[in-house]
Amino acid sequence: MKGRTKSQFWRVKCACGNEQNIFSAATTPVACLVCNAPLATPRGGRVQLAEKATLVKVLE
Ligand SMILES: [Zn+2]
Repeated sequence: MKGRTKSQFWRVKCACGNEQNIFSAATTPVACLVCNAPLATPRGGRVQLAEKATLVKVLE
């Protein structure tokens, strides 16, 4: 079964160089695992990337 939902995993890169995957529909703030900088904050059911975070790619 293939389900198409709005929820995706995003690979984001922090300003410190760390890359990690975050859930686009996370309900809690996401912080960098290396430098602890905020990478994304929940907003209206979808996270918004912080300034220090760069979207590398959307994971299928
Ligand atoms: Zn970082």
